[in-house]
Amino acid sequence: MGDNVNKKDGGEYEEFCMMCRRPESLAGKMLHLPGNIQVCSHCMDSMTKLIDENYGDILNGAMTNPSAFMRITPMNQTADPSAVDEAAADRIVKEAGVTDLTATEVEDPEAPTEAPGQEAAPRDTVKKAIPRFSFINLADMGDFGLSGKPKVKKRSKGERKPLLALEDIPAPHKIKAMLDEYVVGQEHAKKVMSVAVYNHYKRVATGTTDNIEIEKSNMLMIGPTGCGKTYLVKTLARLLDVPLAITDATSLTEAGYIGDDIESVVSKLLAAAGNDVDKAEQGIIFIDEIDKIAKKKETHSRDVSGESVQQGMLKLLEGADIEVPIGASSKNAMVPTTTINTSNILFICGGAFPGLEEIIEDRINKQTSIGFNAELKGKFNKDKNILSKVATEDIRKYGMIPEFVGRLPMIYTLEGLDKDMLVQILKEPKNAILKQYQKLLELDEVKLCFDEDALEMIAEKAMERETGARALRSIIDEFMLDIMYEIPKDDNIGCVTITKAYIEGKGAPLIELRT
Ligand code: ADP
Repeated sequence: MGDNVNKKDGGEYEEFCMMCRRPESLAGKMLHLPGNIQVCSHCMDSMTKLIDENYGDILNGAMTNPSAFMRITPMNQTADPSAVDEAAADRIVKEAGVTDLTATEVEDPEAPTEAPGQEAAPRDTVKKAIPRFSFINLADMGDFGLSGKPKVKKRSKGERKPLLALEDIPAPHKIKAMLDEYVVGQEHAKKVMSVAVYNHYKRVATGTTDNIEIEKSNMLMIGPTGCGKTYLVKTLARLLDVPLAITDATSLTEAGYIGDDIESVVSKLLAAAGNDVDKAEQGIIFIDEIDKIAKKKETHSRDVSGESVQQGMLKLLEGADIEVPIGASSKNAMVPTTTINTSNILFICGGAFPGLEEIIEDRINKQTSIGFNAELKGKFNKDKNILSKVATEDIRKYGMIPEFVGRLPMIYTLEGLDKDMLVQILKEPKNAILKQYQKLLELDEVKLCFDEDALEMIAEKAMERETGARALRSIIDEFMLDIMYEIPKDDNIGCVTITKAYIEGKGAPLIELRT
């Protein structure tokens, strides 16, 4: 019984109506039917009404024993149409006085066809009619994955405990210092993020009880691919130990179209928080590739994945009660839902915004070409840091609607990685790729060294691929394969040095034997 489910979990998890998918907190106490089936009283009511309206004639007499015709079969036990309660059939015939049903009205493909003219006995007809009601076999309906049930932890009553108490929130300089250990460069981004996150969790910890309400500090980070946007957010969430969901805006579409519903973003966070609503409501959502939902220019068809998605996201960013599917990317009749308030969820959007430079350039050039500054026209054409001069109007021009940009008050840019930064990424972060390989070989008691010019060569190769630091891993993996394969063969090897010649394919690594 559903009761058992609840007791087993110590009553921590909410129950859902298996028909309307609403949780207990919205639909009221659940009625427990045999076979682990829970329905809310409203659905139970509507169901009885529906049956009554459509099949009242037949069932009028049988209402005294509803289970005879509803055939609520326990879970895992299929309704057997032949297993009709004989006594119930007799009683229906007697009490309802059903005499006018014919075999064709109660289509039963398995039923033997009767000879024309030979009328079916009312009792037999009713017997055939009864199994038709097995379409409301709740046990069948109930088995839509809920048996291995996505459970949602009940919302705590009264004052909610903040994930980070005021005294536990690290100060911005501490957050930045922690980020420094993992992320190379991006000083400005790290600083902005540290302050924004610090303020955000202060806002969550103090609540909104006083009359000065602190605004949400949702962020928009702009930077080329592979410069560490996702990595920064991931590191931040891990250091603060808050749940994080990462989604891609490209998969989102307006509800009803092929793609993920906008609410799926929040349902991912709920999953990341172990289906704990309280925890999820204080997590971080990172939406990558946000530039892909820019308004399409000169389109005559409905823009279901661009502007509509931005519109749909407004209330999410602002803070609202959102009904989210549990364990699925879109709401449908088979998926239970729960309500999540997004006011304390920190949204971070990221995108490469290709082509934004030209928009910024245009704006700056237009400004400088007025009046005395006219001769400066074109001055910014070759500015390497042009992206950092971004203003909200540029992003609006790019195709983001004003309401959307308005809900992301912190806008900042990340720099593209140059050769030096790539070399640093290779060797400096706490879990740098080189450190990982060194550790692996250390277990074989072999020392792994890299010549500085070899590292530069790797960085150059990575830059050619134009995928930022992402290329580093694949390049290193490529040439380390042989080394990782050959070294364990020979116990005498004590040290391997990777040289520039080896990276260029012109020579071998330097091997030193154990002394
Ligand atoms: P994107 O900006 O496209 O989201 P990612 O954050 O996914 O790029 O970066 C890809 C990988 O490159 C990361 O997993 C990380 O290992 C490495 N990386 C990128 N930028 C940096 C950086 N600034 N410092 C350290 N590692 C980085």
